[in-house]
Amino acid sequence: MRRITILGATGSIGQSTIDLIRRDPGAYDVVALTGGSNVAQLARDAIDLRAAVAVVNDPTALPALRDLLAGTGIETACGPDAIVDAARRPADWIMSAIVGAAGLPPGMAALEQGTTLALANKESLVTAGPLLMSHAAAHGATILPVDSEHSAVFQALVGEDMSAVERIVITASGGAFRDWPLDALAAATPAQAASHPNWDMGQRITIDSASMFNKALELIETREFFGIDPARIEAIVHPESLVHALVGFNDGALMAHVGPPDMRHAIGYALHWPDRRHLPVARLDLAAIGTLSFRPADEVRWPALRLAREVMAAQGLMGAVFNAAKEAALDAFIAGRIGFMEMADVVAHMLDVMSAQGGQHNAPLSLDTIMDTDRMTRLRVSEHLADRG
Ligand code: NDP
Ligand code: MG
Repeated sequence: MRRITILGATGSIGQSTIDLIRRDPGAYDVVALTGGSNVAQLARDAIDLRAAVAVVNDPTALPALRDLLAGTGIETACGPDAIVDAARRPADWIMSAIVGAAGLPPGMAALEQGTTLALANKESLVTAGPLLMSHAAAHGATILPVDSEHSAVFQALVGEDMSAVERIVITASGGAFRDWPLDALAAATPAQAASHPNWDMGQRITIDSASMFNKALELIETREFFGIDPARIEAIVHPESLVHALVGFNDGALMAHVGPPDMRHAIGYALHWPDRRHLPVARLDLAAIGTLSFRPADEVRWPALRLAREVMAAQGLMGAVFNAAKEAALDAFIAGRIGFMEMADVVAHMLDVMSAQGGQHNAPLSLDTIMDTDRMTRLRVSEHLADRG
């Protein structure tokens, strides 16, 4: 039996992962499941999958988790350190699906046991790409991409040599506002931004799709995962969300990955890699679909894309600044404190402030410097927002 741990089991990716492993009873030995605060879901899945341990991030939720798991023999724990401990328990395959920079420490801990880490938590690569990749190499661990675009690129590269790759093109649906007039965007509400035309995902990533901060993170993720020059990475708008990415080779060929917008494909590919197995996703009827369309990704409508290029040029801790400023700006937008287009203004401002500080963003990349930069940036964003009144 394969030993499996799911970090972020109660979220959208976590639940899709559980859906897949539930279809194969007897194949998996579930070691640890972790959640943020949703103990009802966590307890249900821990019992159903006979997990050895269930960990909740929020300490105030621990008594409820204990009550729900009383008499089951399933261990319980709480807090960020307990999640890191769960990631250290021996497992053959670990899903990293916590949202945000909080996913980095347990992801790093998981790599130390030389396991296979299925990486949905793109923030780990954005904040700590070089560190994460070198940590994996040092411990003989394997990182497999779960983000749909990166899984698509990874699949298009099987049997290929990176030296023959001219460019990588990742697609973007354009999110909820792709057809809105530009001047209407300033008044867009969180509820409007949180409805995605094609994908069913968590609230934060859905809003990040509308602002293209998600694609901005993915440009950086592409650079870090595939080690390719940023000038060779493109984002293109593809409203149908059926082509997930394309790899352009030096002989002019473009290999496109086409599939339904269902994360269980990318999760399942990482779960069964290097094999392909049957997966319960829809089969596309291309004749019925008829048209696949593409348009340029406009950096005026989506300034996040331009900011990602600045971050890739600066390197170092600017990825951590970018991610934390984006998360804090997103919190402020969800809370109704700033408008939709102001999220990019706040992030641009923080990139300027932190790079003008010198020193700070040039410090060596370590878990400590990254988490310090993350905290410092969030603090600066809240000061900046308070100053603006
Ligand atoms: P969700 O918001 O649906 O789930 C996030 C998970 O993380 C939940 O289990 C949540 O717990 C847990 N969590 C939240 N905060 C913390 C914390 N501080 N410490 C520990 N656990 C925490 O997110 P998604 O599943 O949508 O996304 C997960 C990751 O995968 C993200 O990095 C996202 O960018 C990436 N991704 C997602 C895709 C998608 O289709 N959803 C596609 C590609 C990438 P709880 O709910 O119990 O509070
Ligand atoms: Mg994606």
